[in-house]
Amino acid sequence: MRMPALFVGHGNPMNAIERNEYFRGWQDIARRLPKPVAILCVSAHWETQGAWVTASAHPPTIHDFYGFPKALFDVRYPAPGAPWLAERVAALVTSERVQQDPARGLDHGAWSVLVAMYPAADIPVVQLGMDTGRPGPHHYAIGRQLAPLRDQDVLVLASGNMVHNLGLFRFHDPKPQAWAEACDEELQRRISAGDHAALMDPGSLGPDMRLAVPTPEHYYPLLYALALQQEGEPLVFFNAGVIGSLSMTSVLIGGGLQA
Ligand code: ZN
Repeated sequence: MRMPALFVGHGNPMNAIERNEYFRGWQDIARRLPKPVAILCVSAHWETQGAWVTASAHPPTIHDFYGFPKALFDVRYPAPGAPWLAERVAALVTSERVQQDPARGLDHGAWSVLVAMYPAADIPVVQLGMDTGRPGPHHYAIGRQLAPLRDQDVLVLASGNMVHNLGLFRFHDPKPQAWAEACDEELQRRISAGDHAALMDPGSLGPDMRLAVPTPEHYYPLLYALALQQEGEPLVFFNAGVIGSLSMTSVLIGGGLQA
């Protein structure tokens, strides 16, 4: 069976330690997946020039935020790295040179979700950095080249938020904003329809979508997951919905889930 591929809306880093509905959604989806031999994570929080992978055998936990409680800074996710997977990614992506970073650790786009999915931290994790200066089709093309990993029991975990505008977030009033809900629904509709060409250029989908994706780093991980969808392959949404100006909607691509 081919390993499913995931796009996860990670949202607030506090989701890593609050046992809320999103945390439970991540726990539940991991329980229903076949156990991967390794995880390749494409996170919104590693923006690079060119393509990079983490190649450390013991990637440290990076606390790449500020102003949060000490309990969040105390979180460690001591999963091993997988230099073999870094090598494999570099070999699979032939459209450009994938450089290996021997020191880089795991950012919160990766570990805030992985602490829920795989709390034992016993599955090796590699991260793939995104050159966010490049347009959507560039990222989709890299995703396509990673397809063989699904047949090698590697889970591709793309982590971002498909609607993400912190500038418009009202911390005193996080109820869903109408334009954000409309964009979330529009994106779900296009994802269901397999309209990848339009999804590669969200700015072309109207002015509200330019509010939803003011910068590309939280959106582009979605393209890596969509690029791994085979012709006619089913997908399901989970953790769907909007908080303020942020969508938590997540997508699992592939069938054969356990009950
Ligand atoms: Zn984020």
